Amino acid sequence: MIQFAEQIRRRGETIGLVPTMGALHEGHLSLIRAARRQTDTVVVSIFVNPLQFGVREDFARYPRNLSRDLALAKREGADVVFAPSREEMYPRGACAIVEVEGLSDQLEGALRPGHFRGVATVVAKLFNIVQPTIAYFGQKDYQQAVIIKRMVEDLHWPVRIDVLPTVRESDGLAMSSRNVYLSTVERRQAVALSQALKAAHEAIRGGERRAQALRRRMQAVMRQQALIRVQQIGIVDAATLTPVAQLKGRAAILVAAFVGTTRLIDNLLVDVT
Ligand code: AMP
Repeated sequence: MIQFAEQIRRRGETIGLVPTMGALHEGHLSLIRAARRQTDTVVVSIFVNPLQFGVREDFARYPRNLSRDLALAKREGADVVFAPSREEMYPRGACAIVEVEGLSDQLEGALRPGHFRGVATVVAKLFNIVQPTIAYFGQKDYQQAVIIKRMVEDLHWPVRIDVLPTVRESDGLAMSSRNVYLSTVERRQAVALSQALKAAHEAIRGGERRAQALRRRMQAVMRQQALIRVQQIGIVDAATLTPVAQLKGRAAILVAAFVGTTRLIDNLLVDVT
């Protein structure tokens, strides 16, 4: 992969990287399409990164289907699928790690200690191996995108980070590889996460600026579904991820909830004048 990337860069051509954990869906495919439009060679990486999973999380059962992923990536015009083994990515464990301090401890990071260290470390490795001109991420994982942007800024990495909108099912549920865990009834109830964000958005359009009132409104929507257990509603400054009491400027509203035993996340960006 490194040699191939070097050849391309020597020819003065650009490389687009779409890092994924596989089980590709339309969200991933939208990133591949953007890379296809904007760069000469498109690399999709598929690696279920053990370092970003907590001990009680779903690493072992995370959906894996390489042959299907290869067919989808090919159909969308990817030139390379880079699917390294755990031994190739961590031949001697993970002694050198990348920590984006502060941003990584909040919100998702507070609930999943070490998660963003795992993410930043594997993305740093992928950037060194694939040498992308542009790397593509989804807004679905909003905090992750903020952290990766900060990592490349702080470490002067010569790579552009593009963040693309969340792709949703027709009822509004954010696409996720984890949606396959949902039973039929859970799947029906899971839409409440996006409905809660929609309710917050409407309240904001109607003039509501108080974070606490928005949070209550969102909770009321999700409480209607018996199988949903809200874990966190973060209402934060979109750039710094610090909580705000009153919306002002660009804000992010992030929700994490269990639907049955499946943990889902979603978010909304709003510009408030
Ligand atoms: P994952 O395979 O879940 O690690 O995701 C790989 C990339 O795809 C990340 O940048 C995600 O933010 C992005 N992604 C996941 N789901 C969606 C979605 N529904 N819409 C847009 N991007 C997504």
